[in-house]
Amino acid sequence: MSSSQATNGPSGNIDALLQEHRRFPPPPAFAEHAVAHDPAVYQRAHDDPDGFWAEAARRLDWYKTWDKVLEWDAPWAKWFVGGELNASYNCVDRHNATWRRNKAAIIWEGEPGDTRVLTYRDLYREVNRAAAALLDLGVKKGDVVAVYMPMIPELPIALLACARIGAPHTVVFGGFSAEALRDRINDSGAKLVITADGGWRRGNVVPLKETTDAAVQGAPTIEHVLVVKRVGEARPVEMKDGRDVWWEDALAKASQRIVEPEHLDSEHPLYIMYTSGTTGKPKGQLHTTGGYLTGTSLTHQWIFDLKEDDVYWCTADIGWVTGHSYIVYGPLANGSSVVMYEGSPDYPDKDRFWDLVEKYGVTILYTAPTSIRTFMRWGPEYPAKHDMSTLRLMGTVGEPINPEAWMWYQEHIGHGTCPIVDTWWQTETGMIMITPLPGIVATKPGSATRPFPGVEPAILDEQGTAVPRNSGGNLVITRPWPAMSRTIWGDPQRYVNTYWSKYPGVYLTGDGARQDDDGYYWLLGRVDDVVNVSGHRLGTMEVESALVSHPAVAEAAVIGVSHPVKGQAIVAFVTPRAGFKPSDALTVELKEHVVQAIGALARPERIYYTAELPKTRSAKIMRRLLRDIAEGRVLGDTTTLMDPNVVNQIKQQYESSEG
Ligand code: ATP
Ligand code: MG
Repeated sequence: MSSSQATNGPSGNIDALLQEHRRFPPPPAFAEHAVAHDPAVYQRAHDDPDGFWAEAARRLDWYKTWDKVLEWDAPWAKWFVGGELNASYNCVDRHNATWRRNKAAIIWEGEPGDTRVLTYRDLYREVNRAAAALLDLGVKKGDVVAVYMPMIPELPIALLACARIGAPHTVVFGGFSAEALRDRINDSGAKLVITADGGWRRGNVVPLKETTDAAVQGAPTIEHVLVVKRVGEARPVEMKDGRDVWWEDALAKASQRIVEPEHLDSEHPLYIMYTSGTTGKPKGQLHTTGGYLTGTSLTHQWIFDLKEDDVYWCTADIGWVTGHSYIVYGPLANGSSVVMYEGSPDYPDKDRFWDLVEKYGVTILYTAPTSIRTFMRWGPEYPAKHDMSTLRLMGTVGEPINPEAWMWYQEHIGHGTCPIVDTWWQTETGMIMITPLPGIVATKPGSATRPFPGVEPAILDEQGTAVPRNSGGNLVITRPWPAMSRTIWGDPQRYVNTYWSKYPGVYLTGDGARQDDDGYYWLLGRVDDVVNVSGHRLGTMEVESALVSHPAVAEAAVIGVSHPVKGQAIVAFVTPRAGFKPSDALTVELKEHVVQAIGALARPERIYYTAELPKTRSAKIMRRLLRDIAEGRVLGDTTTLMDPNVVNQIKQQYESSEG
């Protein structure tokens, strides 16, 4: 299939499916008190983007004000040129200097039920001690620090300590293998790795130190391994003399030393974050300081309607960009109270999240469609056990949310009234790009709605011409934005080729989208995933969404396979909901259901039932592996795969049914 072409759904039918005309205006009481309530902000930002972003940057504390807002030599951007600041100072010190010193910064709960609350004062103390410990271990400004940790308070403390001394961090999700960790250490050239003896997951210990030991074999740049004691007796670890240091000891030695934050250039590297690898080998995105902090803190405040007394919970892992931007940097720069949870949502039972919402009085919840579909599969009786009346706003990120899941989320989690912000963005964009402002924009289930003020997307055809309303195309961003990735670490040419070559000077997202009659954006999935049936281009998301709207279907992944007549035919992999058994009758029914929803051309040629779908560690469906199976190819990069067994099972099933 020609993978880079625009998507073009048969919009008449899909509109009905996506409930395009179902609108949820901001509840009046919500709109009245919303942080962002003036619709004129969109026009203002459009007319003078530099002025808009400069105003936004003033929310931060700068040691030295910038000389120039933006220097743009496509594709190389510099934001707030000549300015100096420190991210750690902005997330910690400046709050510690006000009444917020006794406000909860991090409200943490471990999986076994242990809890810790760190005020901004506590955070200030711990970040200073950790920064001193890093200096004692020989880490200097510009050195890269790898972080491979469970979701414990020492994780954000470690990041802020790195930022304080100007050492860029690279966090590797704690579920990754030794090989994946080693690759990222070697790619980034990290000198130190910070880990823990283990972390708790579903009642078991994740042996992080052992995995780190294996990874560091073959990672010659690593000089020290700094180890937080999290599980202790449950998993004694070996400490290698001269190389390994306990976090506790290193911090005790640092005592109460205050480490003055480095005055860093606005473009100083803050971190490297590898993409999920849904479409191929992960890319190390470099994020820098001033623009990134401006973009993440502004979007966090406006999109989540952040008030001083909110209790904000983003359920992502800090191992992903979502955790960097919307657990650590955005929220802490804004002085908010952030909930952090170590473990699994089904431990000890499937209501753990809702227990936490009730216990801490969470007001803002940010999670992923894949989690919502899992909660749907488990059933509404779990949230129903808890009083979640404190919730007032909810968000989603990571994938297009099918309208079915959107409605369920609002009904069963958001007590029928919470506005939902569907936020589209990427590791590369650093900050949310397309999203409702919940006090201004009416939402439509399944649509990310409008670009954030100052963000200028477009939808282009292959020639680079903007497509008309209601046709699909390549989603691009036509103007630089402050939190954008500056390059791919160690491979600037790949940065140019991947994002800036198809349309010179314009950022290619890799996602397909279309705009409806109201100008709302509908994300259609990855352009690489588009299926071409008899000359009609279907977004996989459209067909999957139709399948998931059937009561028997929990999850679905759709791919195109070569077909002698149609060019491509649709093959669907379906995970049934609890209580539904695969059968020929169900297959017939599901095919018919898709035809009803979209049209005959979207009828799946074949449907396979599978208990799980192949997903990345960030829980995104890897359709490319399903395509590899279907086309009988060697499987592509599988290092970011959550469970390698899943692909093998599907492969066997596929091949036996073929033969
Ligand atoms: P790789 O780039 O290595 O293939 P990835 O794209 O999965 O990995 P991320 O940066 O974590 O890595 O994911 C960004 C992608 O997630 C977006 O490009 C988009 O496809 C999808 N996405 C995120 N949020 C949304 C959303 N609200 N609606 C639709 N799609 C979304
Ligand atoms: Mg991507």
